[in-house]
Formats: sequence, structure tokens, C-alpha cells
Amino acid sequence: MQRGSAEECAGDAGRVVPVVDRNRCEAKAACVQVCPFDVFEIRPLEAADRAVLTLAGKLKAWVHGNRQAYVVRADDCHACGLCIKACPEKAIRLVAVTDL
Ligand code: SF4
Repeated sequence: MQRGSAEECAGDAGRVVPVVDRNRCEAKAACVQVCPFDVFEIRPLEAADRAVLTLAGKLKAWVHGNRQAYVVRADDCHACGLCIKACPEKAIRLVAVTDL
């Protein structure tokens, strides 16, 4: 997976933020690799996030080492959508900041 370029992601920052579906993420890190602005990192699943998973989500998380993608630099998201295209689990969507 190639890192995207800033030219591919030339929209304004701060209009949308990525949201990760905790029942879908398998920590495959495609989002980490492709995002030109280092918006994501893979880290241990937080207890509060694990607590609200479905049974299938808990099993999936366990199989994948209880690690998932987290948004760590939401303000740097430029809304290019490269992470959405790259994620094999279709676990990412962009949400308008005004809708949060
Ligand atoms: S849309 Fe995804 S890949 Fe593009 S800047 Fe935002 S988080 Fe990074």
C-alpha cells in the first residue's frame, strides 16, 4: 500500500473527521499507510470501545490482537477519502465536523 500524496489530498483541513467502525476494524493498517497526513495509528483497543462491541466484534477484535485504528490527528484530515478506498474492511467513513 502506497502512501498518498498531499496533492491527492488538497482539500481544506478541518471540515470532516474520519470515524472508525469498531465492529469492522481489523487493524490491517491500510489507513495508516495511505494517509498523507498521519491521521491514524494502530494501538490497543480501549476498554470503553471494547465494551460496546457486538459479540462478533469482540471475537474479531480478539482474533486480531485487540488492536485497532485510532484517529489521532483528526484536525489534519483533508477529506481526500484515500483511507476509505484503502480499508479492506470498509470500516472508515468521513463525518462533517458540523454533524459531530
Ligand atoms: S480522508 Fe483519510 S486519508 Fe485523507 S486526510 Fe483524511 S484521514 Fe487521511
